Amino acid sequence: MTAGAIFVAGHRGMVGSAIVRRLRALGRENIVTAGRDEADLTRQEQVEAFFERHAIEQVYLAAAKVGGIHANNTYPAQFIYENLMIECNVIHTAHKAGVQKLLLLGSSCIYPRAVAQPMREDALLTGVLEPTNEPYAVAKIAGIKLCESYNREYGRDYRSVMPTNLYGPNDNFHPENSHVIPALMRRFHEAARNGQEEVVVWGSGKPMREFLHVDDMAAASVHVMDLAFDTYRANTDPMLSHINVGTGVDCTIRELAETVAEVTGFKGRLVFDASKPDGTARKLMDVAKLERMGWKATIPLADGMRQTYRWFLEHAEAVR
Ligand code: GDP
Repeated sequence: MTAGAIFVAGHRGMVGSAIVRRLRALGRENIVTAGRDEADLTRQEQVEAFFERHAIEQVYLAAAKVGGIHANNTYPAQFIYENLMIECNVIHTAHKAGVQKLLLLGSSCIYPRAVAQPMREDALLTGVLEPTNEPYAVAKIAGIKLCESYNREYGRDYRSVMPTNLYGPNDNFHPENSHVIPALMRRFHEAARNGQEEVVVWGSGKPMREFLHVDDMAAASVHVMDLAFDTYRANTDPMLSHINVGTGVDCTIRELAETVAEVTGFKGRLVFDASKPDGTARKLMDVAKLERMGWKATIPLADGMRQTYRWFLEHAEAVR
C-alpha cells in the first residue's frame, strides 16, 4: 500500500510523463502509475483492483487515445470508445475509492467548429463540432460533464483543463497518425538527411493553430490541481468548470512549417497537398481565466521546438 499517493494515469504518454517529471521536480515522490500490464484502464474491474491496491489521494487523468487529424478521421470508433471507457472507469472508481481530487486533461477540440476566436470556456456546447474529430471531442466533453456531475451530486473536487495543441518530448512521431509538429519534424528531418529538394505539408498551409510545450502544460496542470478550492470556485461555475490552457498566440501552418524547416536544417521547398484535410480554420484559446488564477505559459515556440528536436535526435531510433 502506498499512503496518500498521486496517481498519474497515462504516465507513458507525452502529457502524463511530463506531469510525472513536474511532480518529481516539486519533490513529490509519492507517485503511482499503472502500466498496461497492471491495469488496462478500459477495463473497469482492472481499474477497481488497481485502486484497491493503492491508497490514492489525487488523480491526474492524462490517459487517452489521441492522434492527429488523419488518425481521428480513420479510427473514430476507437477514439470515442477508448476515451469514454477510460474516463468512466477512472472517474467513477476514484469516486468509489473516496478520492476527493482529480484533474481531467481534455482538448481544445471540444469547442464548436465555427466558434468565436479566441475560444472562451463558455463556448462549450454552443454549436456543431469539427467533423474530423467529433467522436474524440464528444468523449472529452463527456469527461468534463462526468467531473461536474460527481462534484454536484457527491461534493467531489474534480477539475478539468483543456490544452491547446501540445508538443514536446515523448510525442508520437508516426508519419501519418501523429499531430502536425512531430509529423513535420520527422518528415523535414528525413528530407534534410536524404538531401530531398521538397517536403509535403498537408492542407493549404492557411489554418491557424496555437502550440503549447508539454512542460508548460504539466506546470499548468499541477497549478490548477493545487489551487485552493475557493480560488477555483470563484473563477468557475459548477456547470462550466473546465479551464483553457494555452499560450494565447497562434501561427499559420505555413509559418509553423518554416520554423520546422529552420530547426531541422531543411533548405528545400514546401509543397502543400490540398488533397489532405485542413480541419478547423483557427483554434486559439482564450486563456484569461487561467491567467486570473495566476498561471502563464513560459516556453516560446521556437525554443520548445529546438528542445523537442534535440529529444527526437536522441531518440530517433525508438520513437513510436
Ligand atoms: P488538428 O489541430 O486537430 O487539426 O490536428 P493536427 O495537428 O493533426 O493538424 C493541424 C493542421 O496541420 C491541419 O490543418 C493539418 O492539415 C496540418 N498539417 C500539415 N501537415 C501535416 C502533417 O504532416 N500531419 C498532420 N497531422 N497535420 C498536418
